[in-house]
Parts: sequence; C-alpha cells; structure tokens
Amino acid sequence: AQEALRQSQKMEAVGQLTGGIAHDFNNMLAVVIGSLDLLSRRMGSEDARSRRYVDAAADGARRAAVLTQRLLAFSRQQPLQPETIDINRLVANMSDLLRHSLGTDVRLETVLAGGLWRTHVDPNQLENVILNLGVNARDAMPGGGRLTIETQNGHLDMRYATAHIGVPAGQYVVIAVTDTGTGMPPEVIAKAFDPFFTTKQVGKGTGLGLSQVYGFVKQSGGHVKIYSEPGEGTTVKIYLPRLIGAADEVEAKIGSSEIPEG
Ligand code: ADP
Repeated sequence: AQEALRQSQKMEAVGQLTGGIAHDFNNMLAVVIGSLDLLSRRMGSEDARSRRYVDAAADGARRAAVLTQRLLAFSRQQPLQPETIDINRLVANMSDLLRHSLGTDVRLETVLAGGLWRTHVDPNQLENVILNLGVNARDAMPGGGRLTIETQNGHLDMRYATAHIGVPAGQYVVIAVTDTGTGMPPEVIAKAFDPFFTTKQVGKGTGLGLSQVYGFVKQSGGHVKIYSEPGEGTTVKIYLPRLIGAADEVEAKIGSSEIPEG
C-alpha cells in the first residue's frame, strides 16, 4: 500500500505539471492552426507552392495538437462529454477500424457479454482509448497474433480497493484487451502510464498512449490495470463505473466474431 500511495502521488504531481503546459500549448496551437488555415484559404490557387508550405505547417501543428490533447487527457483536464452507452455496441462499431489498424497478421476477436451493464462515459474518448490499446497490441505482435476484446460485468471488492489508492469498491463494466505479443517486464509495467515513457524507436512511439488511457479512466471514475507475462502477452483491463438506472441493462449481442487470418 505504501508503494501504491507513492505511485498515485507521483501520477498526481506529473499530471499537474504536464497539465499546465499542455493547456497553454493547446491554446497557442489553436491560434497557429487557425491562422494558417485562414492564410491557406486566402492564398487560393494562384500560388500553389506557397500554399503547400502553409498546409504542411498546419499539418504539423495539428499533429502537435493531438499530442497536447493526449497530455490533457492524462492530466484529467480534457473536456468530457459523457453519455449513457452500450459498450458492446461501441466495440462492435469499432471492429472495422480496429481490423484496419491491426493489419492482416493480427486476428481480432470480440467476446461481448450478454446483459452488460451500462456506463456513463465519453464515447469518443473511449474509442480513442481502445484504439490506443489496439495499436500497442499490434506493435507488440510484429509476427502476428491475436487481439481479444472482451466485455464483462465485474466488481472490485474492499480488499482490492484498500490496496489500490483512490479506487472505490463496487460494480464496474470491464473491458479487457488481450494480446499474444511480447509482454512487458515488471519495470516496464511500473512506468507504462508515465507520459513520454516509451520503449519504442524514436518516431514510432510518443509514450502518450497509455497516459491518455490512464487519464481518461481516472477522470471517468474508473480503474485500469495491466497484467502481463513476458513472452506470453498482455491484458489491459479497464473498469468503468456501472450506471445504476431504471433500464440499466442493455440488449447485448452474445458470442464472438472472428475474421480468418491472411
Ligand atoms: P507508446 O506506445 O507510444 O510507446 P504507450 O504509453 O502507449 O506509449 O506505451 C508505453 C510503453 O508500454 C510502450 O513503449 C511499450 O514498451 C509498453 N507497452 C504498452 N502496451 C504494450 C503491449 N500491449 N505489449 C507490450 N508492451 C506494451
């Protein structure tokens, strides 16, 4: 519990530091992007080459803005638009996009629980989170493999809550993302949620994927945990609080779908 406390204090401190910077950067980049877009529109087609330069600058600024938004997510300062959602449907709707980003060597399998509870979170952010996990899984399986996304009704008990600072015991909708990739040694797991921590080559990783996941989940009142065995694979489990309401169960598609390899 001592270690858990240290870890959560560290994440708080790093979040506050990066949040301030990201917030200012985000505003400045909005000015840059807006001005470049106006300039590009004004230039029309007379000066095609100059216009290409301006558009390239705007593209770069947009990529930078994506990074600052991931940092804002980590520091829990992003504006969220929560909705009551059926996670099974969200996952099912994402499967084409996911297959596309996984490439042909990775099989996607979804196992969607029947009678899944509802949750109240920002669907766009949740899609980003699942996409981030999919990209990490793909990168961990250079020779191909299987990505499984499973939904479940679950709960965290008092013992678990006591051992994990800031995690209330209770009922949660669980999304488990499992790959058959390289796995992560304990020292990588310990740092995986830190912003800018990456083991990937320069240009390949930003170290902000799992930071965004962490921030979104925390801001949504949930919990995220990594289970990994080097050489076996990794499971990232996301817990989102169950929404208790009149009709809190959704008609869920039961079973799994799979596409063949190749
Ligand atoms: P990035 O993907 O840009 O490196 P992340 O924050 O998403 O940043 O991940 C941080 C690090 O955690 C990765 O560089 C990698 O070492 C490790 N990691 C994340 N997901 C997985 C996974 N599914 N399998 C193996 N290692 C992983």
